[in-house]
Amino acid sequence: MSEKLSLSSSLESLKGVGPAKYKLLAESGLSNIADLLDYWPRRYVDYSKLSLIKEISPGLITLKVSIVSIKGRWACGRAMHLTEAIVEDEAGDRMPVVWFNQPFRLTGFKTGEDYFLSGEFKVNSGRLNLTNPTVEPVKDENGQANTARIIPIYPERSNLNSRLLRSLILQVKDAVDHIPETLPKEVLEEYKLISKTQSIWQLHMPETMESLSLAKRRLAFEEILTLQLAVQKNKQFIQKLKAPQIKFNLDDTKELVNSLKFKLTDDQRRVSWQILQDLEKSEPMNRMLMGDVGSGKTVVAAFAALQAIKAGKQVVVLAPTEVLARQHHKSFTELLGSLGTGVQLLVGSLKPKEKKENLAQIEEGRAELIVGTHALLQEKVKFRNLSLVIVDEQHRFGVNQRKELQKRVKEGYFPHLLTMTATPIPRSLALILYGELEQSVLKTKPPGRIEIETKLIPGASKQKVWDKMKTELEAGNAVIFVCPAITDSEASKRVSAEKVFAELSKKAWIKKHGLGLLHGKLKPEEKERVMADFASRQINTLVSTTVIEVGIDVPRATLMVIEGAEYFGLAQLHQLRGRVGRSDLPSFCYLVPVKNDGIPARLRYFAENSDGFKLAQYDLEMRGPGQIYGKLQSGALDLRLVDVTDLSLVKKAKEAAQDILKNELALSKELKANIQKHQDLEYLN
Ligand code: ADP
Ligand code: MG
Repeated sequence: MSEKLSLSSSLESLKGVGPAKYKLLAESGLSNIADLLDYWPRRYVDYSKLSLIKEISPGLITLKVSIVSIKGRWACGRAMHLTEAIVEDEAGDRMPVVWFNQPFRLTGFKTGEDYFLSGEFKVNSGRLNLTNPTVEPVKDENGQANTARIIPIYPERSNLNSRLLRSLILQVKDAVDHIPETLPKEVLEEYKLISKTQSIWQLHMPETMESLSLAKRRLAFEEILTLQLAVQKNKQFIQKLKAPQIKFNLDDTKELVNSLKFKLTDDQRRVSWQILQDLEKSEPMNRMLMGDVGSGKTVVAAFAALQAIKAGKQVVVLAPTEVLARQHHKSFTELLGSLGTGVQLLVGSLKPKEKKENLAQIEEGRAELIVGTHALLQEKVKFRNLSLVIVDEQHRFGVNQRKELQKRVKEGYFPHLLTMTATPIPRSLALILYGELEQSVLKTKPPGRIEIETKLIPGASKQKVWDKMKTELEAGNAVIFVCPAITDSEASKRVSAEKVFAELSKKAWIKKHGLGLLHGKLKPEEKERVMADFASRQINTLVSTTVIEVGIDVPRATLMVIEGAEYFGLAQLHQLRGRVGRSDLPSFCYLVPVKNDGIPARLRYFAENSDGFKLAQYDLEMRGPGQIYGKLQSGALDLRLVDVTDLSLVKKAKEAAQDILKNELALSKELKANIQKHQDLEYLN
C-alpha cells in the first residue's frame, strides 16, 4: 500500500484511521500526509539504549526481555488494578514489572517471544520496579515506534496523542521521498547540510541524537536562509528606489550644537554623522538606532530632522503612544523651535477644528516637522514633500516598515527612514529581525549621570518608601509609582494603581505636593491634563500603570517606586527604571514585591545591574528564547527550529543568501514562495 502514497494522500488511507480518527486528525489541521509530516515533534525521549537488568539505575530505561510470569490483582478495595510480571533478559537476570490499571496486559504477551519494555525504573509499592512500561514485540514488521529508539513526543492537540501520530508516521516513510528538495545543491554541499527528505524523516524518527541534530541544523538553516534571502531582496529593492538627497550643511549643524545645553557624547557625534551621510545619498536610508534608555537618541534624530527641514523638506516623527508623541512634540520644539522650525502635533485627540488646520498646514508645507502616533501614516495626511520618517520606540517588531510607507507615499521618491529602539537585543536576533536595516548603536550614556540606586523593599518595610518620598518631595523633586494593574480585581492579587492612589490620597504631606493618577483607561484629554500638570509641577507624585514605560522624560523625577515588582519582566523593569535618573540629580528605584514567598533572583539581579544588554542576556538565559521571543516561533516568521541565540548559524545563512544572489543560483518553487511570504511581511504581532 505504502508505495502508492503521495504527499497529498488523505490520512484516511492509513492503517488505524477510521472515520472517527480521521475527523479528530482533520480537526487538528492534519488531513493529508504533507500535513502530518509538517507536524513536528516538540521533544524526544531517548529509549534507544538497551540496558541489562544488572546494570540499571532509577530513571528511564529500555529492556529487551521475555516474560517469566504474569498475574493480575485488585488493590485498594478494587479501586486499582495491578498487573505484575517477572521478566528476564538475555543475561538471565530477572526483575519485577508493574502496570497500573492496564488489565489488558495480562493477555498481551506470547510465551517465548522477546519484547522491548521502555519506561521508568523507580520505587513503587515499596520496592524498585519498572513501572507502566511501553511494550512492543521485538519482531515488529514496521520496526519500533514506541520503544527501543528515540521517541518523538508531539505537541498535544485535542485528543491527538503521540502514540497515534508515531504509528502514522511509520506508515508514511516512503512518502517522505516525495518531499521536494528546497535548497540549491551548491548550498547543501558548501554548508554540509543533509537533504530535505532525510532531515524531515530524522526529525520524526531519529536514528541517533546526532542525526537528529543534523536534521534540526539543516531545517533551522533553511528557515534563516529564507528570511535572509527575503531581507537581501528587500534591500536590493530599496537600493533601486529614489530618495531625496539631503545635502549636509555644516552651519545648520553647528547652530544646533551651539544651542544645546550639553556637550554631545562621542557616540552621539559618530552616529549623527553616519545618519547625515546616509541622507546625502540618492537611495533611501534604512537605519536602526539602538541605544539604552537615556542614551540620548532624541538629539541625534533632531540633527537628521534639521538637515531635512533646512533643505525645505518635511519630517515625520512617529511614537507608539499619544503621551509619548506629546513628549516628543515638546522635546523637538525645544531643540528645533528656536532655530525657526515649525513643529506640529497630529494625534487622535485633537479637536476637529485644530486637526483640520494642522492637516492644511501639512499639505501647504508650513508644518515642517510633524509629530504623531503611528496611526498618522494610515490617516489621510497629504504631505507636501515628506523626506524623512523617524519611528521611535518600536513596540511591535516592525520588520519592513518601508512597505507601509510605500503605500502612503506616491510622489515618485521615497523618504529616508530612521527607526529608534531602546530594547537591547542580542546580535543574532538583531540580524534575524532587523537584517534589512543598517544598525547604529549608542553604547555610552551622557556623562555625569549618577547610577540609579535600586533597592528591594519588602511590603512590610513601606516606611522606607515614605521616608525617601518626603526627602525627594521637599527637595522639589518628583516621584512616580508604577503598578501592574489599573483596578483591583478578585481574580488577581496584583497591586492596582487605583488602590495605591487611594492610599497615597490619605497622606496630607503627599497631597500637599500634588498627586495624580495616569492609566490607559483615562480619556485622552484627561491623560494629557495629568501629564501637563506633572510637567508643570502641579503634580509631584504620579501614580501610573505601564503607560509611563515608554520614553517619558521628566528630569526632576528622582524616585520610582515599582509596586508588585514581580509582575514585570526584566525588560519592562529596565524601561521603567529609565524614567528616573534623567538629570544630574541622584535617583532611586524602589522595588516593592507583593508576594511573601521570598524575593525572586531575577529582581535581585535587576537591583545589582543597570546595563540593558546584560539584563537582556540574563533574561534570555533564564527564561530561554521561547519565553521571550516565543511569538517568533509561532508567528508570521515561522522560525520553528532556529535557536535565536545561535549567532554562527545566523551568520552562515546570511552568507549563503548573499552567495545565492551573487551567483544567481536557481531557486526551487517552494523556496521562492517562502521568500515571497517573508518579503511581504511588515509586522510580527
Ligand atoms: P533616549 O535615548 O532614552 O530617547 P533622550 O534622548 O530622551 O534619551 O535623552 C535623555 C536625556 O538626556 C534628555 O533629557 C536629554 O536632553 C539628555 N541628553 C541627551 N544627550 C545628552 C548629552 N550629551 N549630555 C547630557 N545630557 C544629554
Ligand atoms: Mg526616547
